Amino acid sequence: MSTFIPPSPETAVAPLAWRQVDLSAVAANVSALATRCAPAELMVVVKADAYSHGSVEVAQVALVSGASRLGVATLAEGLELRQAGITAPVLAWLAGPHAPYETAICHDLELAAYSCMQLENIATAARETKSSATVHLKAETGMWRGGASDEWASLVERARELEIAGDIDVIGIWSHLARADEPDDPSTDAQRDAFEYAVNIAWSRGLRPRLRHLANSAATLTRDDLHYDMVRCGLAVYGVNPLVNRSSPVPLQPALTVRATVVHVKSAPAGVGVSYGHTYRTETDTRLALLPLGYADGLPVLPAPHPTPFGHRGISLQLAGRVCMDQTVADVGTHGIAVGDTVTILGPGDEGEWTAEDWAHGSGRSAYDILTGLGRRRMGLKYAGES
Ligand SMILES: *Cc1c(COP(=O)(O)O)cnc(C)c1O
Repeated sequence: MSTFIPPSPETAVAPLAWRQVDLSAVAANVSALATRCAPAELMVVVKADAYSHGSVEVAQVALVSGASRLGVATLAEGLELRQAGITAPVLAWLAGPHAPYETAICHDLELAAYSCMQLENIATAARETKSSATVHLKAETGMWRGGASDEWASLVERARELEIAGDIDVIGIWSHLARADEPDDPSTDAQRDAFEYAVNIAWSRGLRPRLRHLANSAATLTRDDLHYDMVRCGLAVYGVNPLVNRSSPVPLQPALTVRATVVHVKSAPAGVGVSYGHTYRTETDTRLALLPLGYADGLPVLPAPHPTPFGHRGISLQLAGRVCMDQTVADVGTHGIAVGDTVTILGPGDEGEWTAEDWAHGSGRSAYDILTGLGRRRMGLKYAGES
């Protein structure tokens, strides 16, 4: 009697729809960004599973391609990198009031502090672990998200005391830009001035942080004056242009391709309504192909009129009707396509498919939102070279 071992849920569904990441594109982008920002250091941001590209794989490639540091949002994301054996500096910038700072410090994660309360919690955890915590103090400069505002002077003064006591080591002062993707917006200059003012206050209170950092991908590409000692790049690493209405001055190669297997093809007469709400009607006798992915997989729901986002052998295929939860219909007309064929849903555009920027534009969402949404549910991850 033979034993039947059912495939894991991932392998069972992987042939339906998947993400494929070209790590050589990541390497090329990292290398181009490192050259662009030199002599400033490059931190590669791998939060949200590296914008759905796989955080451990991206981190490993980034570190051999010119990045010296990694950035994540949560402590859990940082610990995942440590568990994978990555020893490079990792900054985790988002933690709640009961964050497991002891664990983070034991695993050598660098921590962000935005407030005196957070700084005390970090220092307490450092004392408990009998070591010192490496801290980046975050100043409010005009994004009005995280960052110390009125509290800045007291934060840096207390940080200096804790540094003298041996509980913390302040290596960074940083902030984040709200509108660097619009290179002509004056708020970026205002943020630069506020940042430099905050750095001067810290310096006047005796802190000597060696990493001042403000720039995201957009500012790395357009504002050499904002590179300071380090830049933090996410979107550009993945080959997506962060700039509004402007091409990237550095060539970027999209690293992610989303593909799906055609699961059903049939003829349909002219005039039938397709998918929920019948928002699409066939104009002629045609053929419809069923793609096994939908909004539960992160595929954006597009407003009418129906565009041609899918690619198959260089031909762009039309979306027919509403994207459903797990399924989507394409009107393929006379184009030769059969069950089992692979259709490209999002990628560099080589097969006629939309890029991440196209999906963002077509759906009214951002490219960040499109990419991170694709990490959901069934979309298994493959790396270039794997079949
Ligand atoms: C996400 C993030 C970045 C990276 O931004 P990109 O626009 O993707 O380059 C940098 N810094 C902080 C604080 C972030 O949250």
